[in-house]
Amino acid sequence: MSGLADGLLEAWLSEHDQPAFRARQIRDSVWRHYARTTEELRSLPAALKAEIDKSFRVDTIEANDVSVSDGGLTEKTLHRLGDGQLVESVLMHYPARGFAGAGRPLHRERHTLCISSQAGCAVGCPFCATGELGFGRDLETAEIVDQVRHAARRLAPSGRHLTNVVFMGMGEPLLNLDRVLESVEILSDPREFGLGARHIVVSTSGVVPGIRRLTALGPQFTLAISLHAARDPLRDVLVPLNRRWPVAEVVAAARDHARVTGRRVSYEYVMISGVNDTDIDADALARLLRGDLAHINLIPMNPVAHTPWQASSPERVAQFAERVRHGGIGVTVRANRGQDAGAACGQLAANRAGEPAAPAVARRRESIIRASEAAMLGNRSTEALPADLEAAVALRRPRR
Ligand code: SF4
Repeated sequence: MSGLADGLLEAWLSEHDQPAFRARQIRDSVWRHYARTTEELRSLPAALKAEIDKSFRVDTIEANDVSVSDGGLTEKTLHRLGDGQLVESVLMHYPARGFAGAGRPLHRERHTLCISSQAGCAVGCPFCATGELGFGRDLETAEIVDQVRHAARRLAPSGRHLTNVVFMGMGEPLLNLDRVLESVEILSDPREFGLGARHIVVSTSGVVPGIRRLTALGPQFTLAISLHAARDPLRDVLVPLNRRWPVAEVVAAARDHARVTGRRVSYEYVMISGVNDTDIDADALARLLRGDLAHINLIPMNPVAHTPWQASSPERVAQFAERVRHGGIGVTVRANRGQDAGAACGQLAANRAGEPAAPAVARRRESIIRASEAAMLGNRSTEALPADLEAAVALRRPRR
């Protein structure tokens, strides 16, 4: 029920000869009390509950497995959906920091939920456990927003509320854009979750037609670009979608988005030791974004089992950040969260999927090393897009 588009609930109630106020009662149960079953829909007559049972699911998530880490500051949940697909969300309780004005430090409570938009992911970034799992399917709107209801339900007994939602979990949100836009509408609707659009971030690894579509819709949330490399040869390897939409096209679309919406774009940059953390990369990044309404978040790579890579050292991250700042761009260094809970995106689902055969792991590592060595020599990838990604991109290509 949580994923119903505006007006559908009212239409269904009217077809079933129900008064209009039932819609408010149902929304209150779903979005204020986070109902899981028809029984938990408050104030409804039994006959109506029976009708609802025939037409809707109140909760699309069948089971939740929560792991807590960082002394309780990070809670990672593996959600099992109706067809057995596994998706992850991460709830982080780190306060907002900064300055409140007149040099006074700001320390505001913040509870941020990172959610998934797809089961698995077709993009196949080699530093990401979800990328290694491959693509499962797009999530339905209700499956996306039910991750939010699950976290809100966990917070409610302690009187806490979610303050931010970021679409940075499993999947490429702009390859499931219709469902993501419906979810954002529901999450920001005051009759439903009521989260201000400024507190919602949608990230993309660079689906240019999707960015252009968001720009045409106007400011609805903050756009984040998962950049990870400023040079095409390296980005072809780190973010395979770059072979379809190269860096310059992605940044041009993001720049237009910032200009039209007046909203700063965030660039996420995972730091991989000896791969994308050199001075050459820092200078290329500063050159690429100079003068833009942009901010860069540097994130040391989460340890992922089957890559040959390590996270950059804290010293290297600090030097890289300083060099980019010197180039005139705002930079924040983010900490890795919840490593002991398998915080790398897709790690919990990957653990459930079981360990792949050793020869397959060795082949994957060798091919990543070969591709990144060629990239560092400046050679662009000649490999085709992975088949799942080609299919996903073709489906979203605008028709002429
Ligand atoms: S980093 Fe994001 S886009 Fe890349 S494979 Fe992982 S989930 Fe997909």
